[in-house]
Amino acid sequence: MIVVLSKRLGPRDKERICAFLEERGFSPREQTLGDDDIISTAGKGAADIQELSLLPGVERVAATSKPYELASRETKNDDTIISVGPVKIGGSRISIIAGPCAVESREQIQETAARVRESGAVILRGGAFKPRTSPYAFQGLGMKGLELLKEAGEAQGMPIVTEVVSQERALEMRDLTDMFQIGARNMQNFELLKRVGAIGKPVLLKRGPSATIEEWLLSAEYLLAAGARDVALCERGIRTFETYTRNTLDVSAIPVVKRLSHLPVIVDPSHAVGIRAMVSSAGLAAIAAGADGLTVEVHPHPDKAQSDGPQSLYPSQFERLMRDIEALAPVVGKELLRTPRGLPLEFPRPEAVPESPPGGSPVAYAGENGAYAEQALIRAFGEEAPRLACPSFAAVFDAVLDGSAAFGVVPVENSLTGSLHENYDLFLRYPDIAMVGELKLRILHCLIADEAASLETITLVRSHPQGFAQCKEFLDRYPWKLEPCYNTAAAVSSLRREKGENRLKVAAIAGEAAAQGLQILRTGIETNPLNYTRFVIISRKNAGDKAPVPPSLGSERPNKASLIFSAPDTPGALYGCLRIMAERGVNLSKLESRPILGQPWQYLFYLDVGLPETDTGFETLLEELKTRTGEFRFLGAYRGAL
Ligand code: PEP
Ligand code: MN
Repeated sequence: MIVVLSKRLGPRDKERICAFLEERGFSPREQTLGDDDIISTAGKGAADIQELSLLPGVERVAATSKPYELASRETKNDDTIISVGPVKIGGSRISIIAGPCAVESREQIQETAARVRESGAVILRGGAFKPRTSPYAFQGLGMKGLELLKEAGEAQGMPIVTEVVSQERALEMRDLTDMFQIGARNMQNFELLKRVGAIGKPVLLKRGPSATIEEWLLSAEYLLAAGARDVALCERGIRTFETYTRNTLDVSAIPVVKRLSHLPVIVDPSHAVGIRAMVSSAGLAAIAAGADGLTVEVHPHPDKAQSDGPQSLYPSQFERLMRDIEALAPVVGKELLRTPRGLPLEFPRPEAVPESPPGGSPVAYAGENGAYAEQALIRAFGEEAPRLACPSFAAVFDAVLDGSAAFGVVPVENSLTGSLHENYDLFLRYPDIAMVGELKLRILHCLIADEAASLETITLVRSHPQGFAQCKEFLDRYPWKLEPCYNTAAAVSSLRREKGENRLKVAAIAGEAAAQGLQILRTGIETNPLNYTRFVIISRKNAGDKAPVPPSLGSERPNKASLIFSAPDTPGALYGCLRIMAERGVNLSKLESRPILGQPWQYLFYLDVGLPETDTGFETLLEELKTRTGEFRFLGAYRGAL
């Protein structure tokens, strides 16, 4: 049983709660669990939960049938998001740890760190103390290796993780490492778990090669009970009768553990399969199964590696894996957390955004709590970012323009229904607003209704018209009346205001995040599962900067740009514009024409272009385009989502 303390705790509340528990035979202990302050209740006491819940300062009392109390999802329902330095693991992000099996030399770790960071890894791994099966195998460089790892991490602005193998070393390592790894062989070294847990630093807890899921979670419990706050579980393959691979990756453990525990799950495909050619497939399978990240062994020269060379990826293979993960992430409703190329490490933010929102200055979106745009915002800026819900898309642009929001997040295109012209029109109306980032969100529609409602009691469904269009096949099966709303989250809010009988009759179509306190009757009801919405992040151009901000392609940051222009009414005018782009290696990824409002049969062209990595002549190209076009608007250059 755990007691979650209220955020508005009175001065003597804690004392009274502890006294109450002690009187009933418990040994209360104050600690934190995720963001909550809690009192855990070891000992064989007995208390009336109802009575305990009513004590001042008690937010809630949670009990579990599981032997692991602090790690159990029964005591903490929401996903725990852990922090390793500035990097977060868990929630809607995928965080990738990469580096060599062992630190071998300054050159080796520096080179590996630079390569994995370049590909977007957010934490650097490397063993300094290596637990090897043979006593004659390379045992690691010890503390010297850890110093080299720290130096390489600092050079790349990445936190580091390294394995701790003995209690004696744990304290010595504390100030050098950002995260401790407990290796598979030590998963049940309980004295080590207690010592490392008490240090309070983040821990990556590998699953023992023969450990059951329950034993693994009990080891996590040791760490949490000893005081660790940031614990991630790491599946790294278990021993089975199969000998082809080094171990057998237990993919099913991922959804099982996610159901049993709130802790984030990292998967180590390298030790699981032990064969380089299969590491990436296993890693992708883990992400598809719901892992919050991977830890992958990468070595610039695996054939020369002192340990685990055969399973270490070449940096180019790791780069490919990262791109594949990025493409897969939206399918599982997540975003790959990437180290921005060529920029100092600052989290949470997408690589596409040039600045984090300044403290306290919110990010604006249109809609209500739980709207898809809010989900996109959380992906881009993290759960902690202050948010400003606006009644319309124009209000988002206004908020960014007048400075009441640092950034805005607006949808511009859906993979099934095409461009959202309303927002493209707003870019024309607000010349001082620029696109600075992009992200894609998978749209998974749910049918949401009151707890007591069922498909049989529903007579009316509310949603945004696009929600209806995208769920047509499902809706066609029922005789329900459809009532459009201005957005999907508002449709769900309206359910909460229904009274009496009507509560059972009305349902809404929206995303899962909007459903809090209501029942999700059906999920994934969209006709086509390849339903993605592309959002752009907007910000205000610098004061007085009327001209489009030219992208600095030298630092290879932006790789995509959006522009709008009209072409003169002469033969080959559009062709001429496109030809000069082609000549400069600018890749056209989208071209659309739209009528100009108030000018019948005149058109504007809307373009998205991919920018070449090396060409620095984009500015000149824009100048040239301006001379060939009528209306010309540069919307912004940004790092495009895949
Ligand atoms: C490692 O990460 O290099 C390692 C030794 O892993 P495991 O403990 O999973 O074998
Ligand atoms: Mn290894």
